[in-house]
Amino acid sequence: MISFLSLKEVTALHGGEINAAVARVVNSGWYLQGKENEKFEKDYADYIGTKYAVGCANGLDALIWIFRAYVELGVMQHGDEVIVPANTYIATILAITENGLKPVLVEPRFDTLEIDDESIEERITPKTKAICIVHLYGRCAYTERIGALCEKYHLKLVEDNAQAHGCYAATNNSKLATDSQLSTFNAQLKRTGSIGDAAGHSFYPGKNLGALGDGGAVTTNNKTLADMVRTLANYGSERKYVFGYRGRNSRLDEIQAAVLDVKLKHLDDDNAHRQAIAAYYYDNITNPLLKLPFRLNDAQNVYHIFPVFCERRDELQDYLTENGVQTLIHYPIPPHKQRCYSEWNGMELPITEKIHREELSLPISPVLTMEEAKQVVELLNAWK
Ligand SMILES: *Cc1c(COP(=O)(O)O)cnc(C)c1O
Repeated sequence: MISFLSLKEVTALHGGEINAAVARVVNSGWYLQGKENEKFEKDYADYIGTKYAVGCANGLDALIWIFRAYVELGVMQHGDEVIVPANTYIATILAITENGLKPVLVEPRFDTLEIDDESIEERITPKTKAICIVHLYGRCAYTERIGALCEKYHLKLVEDNAQAHGCYAATNNSKLATDSQLSTFNAQLKRTGSIGDAAGHSFYPGKNLGALGDGGAVTTNNKTLADMVRTLANYGSERKYVFGYRGRNSRLDEIQAAVLDVKLKHLDDDNAHRQAIAAYYYDNITNPLLKLPFRLNDAQNVYHIFPVFCERRDELQDYLTENGVQTLIHYPIPPHKQRCYSEWNGMELPITEKIHREELSLPISPVLTMEEAKQVVELLNAWK
């Protein structure tokens, strides 16, 4: 059986170091808000390329704290609008509505799967306060046009970087860069998570940088924002036993911080392995019944997910299952069709709906072997 993602094997890949880090924390007697968080926050901020990283309980909370901080700082008010891709994972949207803000769902492009930057401007109103881009599937969603719109309309740019740790954005290149252009824009690369005003990161175990449980972080260059996020995620307390805000307990624990610090060192190598698998898929999948997304250069894609599209998606998934290949669907039901957002259920978002109807995620991970990738491709190409 070729499993979609074996977390046991992913952990075993750096098992010795991870076990040593866990044991160190267990034996230290200090489990929250200590040296491990301090070290990981510093290392992660350095890696992403921001001045600050603030650990928190999970990726949803990271996004919630960014918008809550903007509300507390008076940058946003209840009822203000946030532009967001319609085909994201639900957490992006939950973080907006949790704060009394209004998500404005914008269609993605079918070839890139990311928010269509040509459809954004017409949706901007006097109430629009932010554009929230999502680097979905590990693909960079940033374009120069998005940056220009943020400047023109004084909007905050918030990044959901839950799926794209280690990815780069070409901040001076509005065109989608192809492989042949890689050498020419290399010098202007910034990591996703450092392009906007603030970014939310998830360390859910299955993510490219995954903990052994829940974890998240906010990155930003804005000290006021970073301090506010830290306060809100710690009961709303700036100083012990003094509460300026009605916060929650949403902290990253020391064991997870220690594990993440180990895995961070290997992230680029782990991503390079995903990129090698993805290159093999791109170069060898030839079945005309399958569509592959626009091929970005490796700098702009860390392949959290390798999606393929097929009109007979469910049949294809059954065929792969019968032949011992596990696949997943990201995601079967789009946010606007969920019961929790019943007010949107009548909306028509044809591209989003097509993606959700046709998407199938192939196995890809730091532990998938090239031999396994070859088997997947052979099965795909033999399918009629
Ligand atoms: C995983 C994910 C989140 C939420 O992260 P959690 O740590 O699971 O709460 C948010 N946005 C996107 C795009 C995600 O994939």
